[in-house]
Amino acid sequence: MLTGVRIVFLGGDARQLEVIRKCVELDATVSAAGFDKWEAPCPGVSLEQMTVELLSNADVLVLPTVGCDDEGNISALFSSERLMLLEEHFAALPPHCLVYSGMAKSYLRGMCAKHSLKLIELLNRDDVAIYNSIPTAEGALVMAIQNTDFTIHSSKSMVLGLGRTGFTMARSLQGLGASVKAGVRKQEHYARAEEMGWKPFMTSELLLHVPDVDLIFNTIPSMIITAQVLSRISPHCLIVDLASAPGGCDFRYAEKRGIKAMLAPGLPGIVAPKSAGIIMANALVQSISDEALIKGDE
Ligand code: NAP
Repeated sequence: MLTGVRIVFLGGDARQLEVIRKCVELDATVSAAGFDKWEAPCPGVSLEQMTVELLSNADVLVLPTVGCDDEGNISALFSSERLMLLEEHFAALPPHCLVYSGMAKSYLRGMCAKHSLKLIELLNRDDVAIYNSIPTAEGALVMAIQNTDFTIHSSKSMVLGLGRTGFTMARSLQGLGASVKAGVRKQEHYARAEEMGWKPFMTSELLLHVPDVDLIFNTIPSMIITAQVLSRISPHCLIVDLASAPGGCDFRYAEKRGIKAMLAPGLPGIVAPKSAGIIMANALVQSISDEALIKGDE
């Protein structure tokens, strides 16, 4: 339970509604700014304006999954007002306040460091990344289905990178009946791919493995699908780049060659905001409880 914990939410999208619901359910004292257009707010949440006073009473501050930009702008889908997190807001937070966000850019990290506030980026947790890989893979499959005229079943599909997202992606493709090639750089990943029934190869030899491929799903966050690689790919092949911006594909050259290549950021929040919100809610609650335990041990 979160009884007695004062949680302030600032902005966010449909995912945040699930997180708010969960915190209210667990008896936290919940205030939310940037939700004036939320049509049916859940009972128990207090909708507020973003003020220094609101922040000065927070035990926990929860920002949207993407945090804020480097000017302090917070995206708030359920508000017509502009939300900005300025230095005065950080200064107002009590020193024990935990600041949560999915990920953080340098401005947010810098401000938290300057004001000695603990910043927790939930997407850095392995469990969150693994759970998030489920809606990500489902979203990538939707994109593949919508942008091809052939079935995934019997297709020659390739997954680049067998981390948390790549593994789920490869398994999902296999489940739909695709023949799956997996590009890795570590022997243990090679062995695991073979054990899973996929066709592993080293990404240093990517050039040799692309000519007959129908679908490529990239999860490697650096330039991997270069112009040289693209020059070997068949024009009917679709590339779905899941890696964080700018992705790992030379999009300019792909367009020049007439190969459809798309960067697909933020899929969990787009295709399954409710599930993605529940994933974040569970991680937030777990983390607040862990932090409370740590304080109790001190
Ligand atoms: P991850 O667990 O770190 O996986 C990345 C994998 O890429 C690692 O296994 C890494 O292998 C491998 N890799 C890196 N360079 C390589 C190379 N040159 N050759 C072969 N393998 C290489 O990360 P993740 O959680 O799966 O996320 C992957 C990317 O997807 C990130 O950019 C993340 O931000 C993004 N993402 C996007 C969405 C979306 O909606 N589009 C959703 C979730 C995540 P090693 O172990 O050898 O380092």
